Parts: sequence; C-alpha cells; structure tokens
Amino acid sequence: MDSESDSLLLDAMLGKLARYLRMCGHDAAYVLDDGVEADDDVLAMARDEDRTLVTRDAQLAGRAADAVLVETKDVEGQLRELRAAGLDLSLTEPARCSTCNGRLEETEGPTPEGVPDPDERRVWRCRSCGQHFWKGSHWDDVAETLAEL
Ligand SMILES: [Zn+2]
Repeated sequence: MDSESDSLLLDAMLGKLARYLRMCGHDAAYVLDDGVEADDDVLAMARDEDRTLVTRDAQLAGRAADAVLVETKDVEGQLRELRAAGLDLSLTEPARCSTCNGRLEETEGPTPEGVPDPDERRVWRCRSCGQHFWKGSHWDDVAETLAEL
C-alpha cells in the first residue's frame, strides 16, 4: 500500500469495514454508496479519485494500480489485515461520517430529538448528510473491538 495516499475505496463486500475505517478518521469511500458495481467502474473510480482499492477479489486487486487484498470474511480479521498493511486504526476525534464518508464538524446545536444536548456532551454533524454523532455506546463498542484486535 502506498502510505502517501490515505484515501481508500472499499469494494462491495466491505461495507461494514468502511464504517470502522471512517470512525478511525479515514477517507473510506464505499463503491455501493456511489452505485458503482462493475469491476471496470470500480477501477476507474479508484484511479480517478486516487484511492487505494481495498478488496477481497484477488483478480480485481491485481488490476488496480494500488490495492490491498484482504482475505478474511469477518470485519475483525479484515481490520487486523489492514493494520498489518500499515493502516492506523485508532479512534480519533470523530472526523468522518460512518454512513456517507462526509466530513464532520462539531455542532453547538440545537440538536434534534434523540441527539444529546451539545452543552452536555460534544456532538458532531455530517456536512454532507446531516447525521449527528457523539461518543455514545456505539463508540465504546468500536473502541473495544479495536482494542481486542
Ligand atoms: Zn454523512
């Protein structure tokens, strides 16, 4: 993997992995978010956006200029493989939307129902899709998963 480039493109089978990588602050685009499925289109997207392709498809990896081939099926194994490939997997301040990969910015509120009050805990909002994020129980679960890799 080219360590200069930290932009990733996740293949169709790796949607769950994309969410973890985004929570670790990585720019992790996911092909199905863009409706891209055919191999040639996946390769073109990686090339046009200068992204490292992450895939479980050895043939596809072989055709990409820059690719990481993951071999395990479960997300924990995939995370271990990426860490071994040199990717930093620590939870940063929330920076990327786990749903759409948009950039997050801290919000002062007001926040909608079901979202904590920014006066009580820090809340971030996605600039692209508007979803709110905070370090709640899901954040703790992910932190635990990463700690146990
Ligand atoms: Zn978003």
